[in-house]
Order: sequence, then C-alpha cells, then structure tokens
Amino acid sequence: MERMTGNEKISSADPASLRMIYYPDPRLKEVCSQVPDPADPAVQDLVERMFALMFKARGVGLAAPQVGVTVRLFVASPTAEPDNRHLYINPEIVSAEGAREDDEGCLSFPGIFCKVKRHEAVTIRAQGLDGEWFEQTGRDLHARILEHETDHLDGRLLVDRMGSVARLSNRKALQALQERYAEVSG
Ligand SMILES: [Zn+2]
Repeated sequence: MERMTGNEKISSADPASLRMIYYPDPRLKEVCSQVPDPADPAVQDLVERMFALMFKARGVGLAAPQVGVTVRLFVASPTAEPDNRHLYINPEIVSAEGAREDDEGCLSFPGIFCKVKRHEAVTIRAQGLDGEWFEQTGRDLHARILEHETDHLDGRLLVDRMGSVARLSNRKALQALQERYAEVSG
C-alpha cells in the first residue's frame, strides 16, 4: 500500500463524519505520520472537529488516531473547559522529570481507569497551526496528558502501560470492549 503523508491523510478525511474509535481498532496501534504542512486549512478543520468531540466526551486530551486519522497531532484541555485549548502538531517530548502515579483513563477505553506512572513535569516541542515551533512545560495532569497523547502517536495505548494487577482487574472490561468491537466491525 502506498504511504500517504500526514497532510494527504487529513485532506482525505471528512471532518464532519469523524467519530471516536475504540480499542481494539487497529488504527490505534499505528505509528502516525508527520504533518509536513501544519498551515494547510484542512488541518484546522480536523483540529476544530477534534476539540468538539473531546469537549463533548468531557475528555482532557484527544489524539488524531483516536478519530481514525493516523497523523501526529493532538489537542488537550487540562481543565476540560472550552476556553482552555492546547494544540500540538508533530510533537516531541524533549525532557521529563519526577515521577507520579495516578489514575488515568482514555476516551478510546470507555469505563476503564487504572494507575499509571508518569513524569511529574514534561517539556514538549511542537508546531502550531502557523507552523511555528514552540516549547512548553506541563506539570501534574498536564504532564500526564502530554505523555499519554504522545504515546498515542506511536500506537502505544493505556493497555500497554498497565501493570499486571491493573490488567487483571480490568480483564473483563477489556474483553467487553473487544467483543463490542467484533460486533460493530464484523
Ligand atoms: Zn488516550
């Protein structure tokens, strides 16, 4: 299969028809493509749709692969309030320090929460819609979101970060998601 660039993937998606996808949809396991041209208006359309879906679901972060577009960008709102909007295109974590274990959920794993150890402070480098690079440091929940969403862009999921205890205690819920996926995709 021919490899599309991130911009080609974005242009071929109709923002209005984008929906949340759920584990174990294989698109969530893909390593996502770079977005060579963040200033393309189609990128903004995708981002607006993602913010709308994230706020509707009362999430604090949403990565493009979670709506089936496997490109390297994510949106976040640590306070889950519409006036608190962050966008990261082609993000890279440049440094991280401290450690904190806390409950974590994911819009692609409805109903599942588990303890995940993350860094306490995370510095990320990313582009905005104007293509300009910026650096930002997030702490606590914001740091957790930056790591969780960057994981998504490499196909790494909450289930991959679960310890054996969390995996066991969430076994039934994970199984239910697998069964539901088999039903809707079969
Ligand atoms: Zn997630």
